[in-house]
Amino acid sequence: MTAYLRPATLAEAVAARAAHPDWMVLAGGTDLMVNANHRPEPPGIVDLWGCADLRGIVRSPDTLRIAAGTPWLEIIRHPDVNKHLPILVAAAREIGAMQIQARGTIGGNIVTSSPVGDSLPVLLALDASLDLASPRGRRIVPYHEFCTGYRTTRLAVDELIAAVIIPLPDAATHLSWRKVGTRAAQSISKVMAAAAIHVEDGRIVWARFGLGAVAARPIRAVAAEHAAARRAPDAATARAVGDALAGEITPISDIRSAADYRLEVAQNLLMRFVLNAGRA
Ligand SMILES: Cc1cc2nc3c(=O)[nH]c(=O)nc-3n(C[C@H](O)[C@H](O)[C@H](O)COP(=O)(O)OP(=O)(O)OC[C@H]3O[C@@H](n4cnc5c(N)ncnc54)[C@H](O)[C@@H]3O)c2cc1C
Repeated sequence: MTAYLRPATLAEAVAARAAHPDWMVLAGGTDLMVNANHRPEPPGIVDLWGCADLRGIVRSPDTLRIAAGTPWLEIIRHPDVNKHLPILVAAAREIGAMQIQARGTIGGNIVTSSPVGDSLPVLLALDASLDLASPRGRRIVPYHEFCTGYRTTRLAVDELIAAVIIPLPDAATHLSWRKVGTRAAQSISKVMAAAAIHVEDGRIVWARFGLGAVAARPIRAVAAEHAAARRAPDAATARAVGDALAGEITPISDIRSAADYRLEVAQNLLMRFVLNAGRA
């Protein structure tokens, strides 16, 4: 029979993780259970669902701290997330249907680290950081450094994600998000993009573009960001952003989409985000 632990606190969860590095760490189970019949049974399960320290959203003057075990539905319904991080709410609304949103957690989406994980471009655009916990203590890792390749991350074998820390954007920062799939509801992304564009006195001071489904991992479009900086958010800048993006991503063709379609859609999304920042 599979061994089973249900820690009530983060300290207990970290101890259980460290004591049993070969056990499955289970949050909502919406990623893990899909493959349950195709993988060997794990020797044990550390079930985080009842861990109170891994649940909830706390606002400080400069950040929102979302505990890693918070399910999407709680994030969608939280007033501070709606007020300050509407693009995270928009992305969360596109994660499966309500049943999946009620169980699936932000930490699970991050650790699964799929190139089509819907929250991940948003975390890049918002410059989120992760609070990681292990018996060695805590460390903060910027999310843009966390994901290293196709479904690989910097999470150590004895670590858990405790929380996601997101700086609160100010009023001059324009946020955009769009997922393009086969249909409006419950589809796997062909391309998704998120942007935070900071505009002062009619000029873009900086931009952060997060993209999904155009590479082996979620990426920041750094060349496109540079193309946007210190320019007006107008049609010429939008074109420069689109051109820069063409030089920095090489999407693949697969069953969901063709490479040239993905590139064109990603360009159109970033160009639209730049123009929207100019209109706001
Ligand atoms: C029908 C269906 C539709 C879906 N649609 C979408 C979609 O549209 N978009 C999308 O992005 N995803 C989608 N998903 C995938 C999934 O729902 C999300 O990725 C969800 O956020 C996963 O969270 P979870 O808590 O269920 O993760 P789990 O399945 O519990 O865990 C996933 C991974 O994360 C690890 N983990 C979880 N929490 C922690 C932690 N705190 N510290 C360390 N490791 C941890 C687990 O060990 C495991 O490796 C869908 C899934 C299903 C079944």
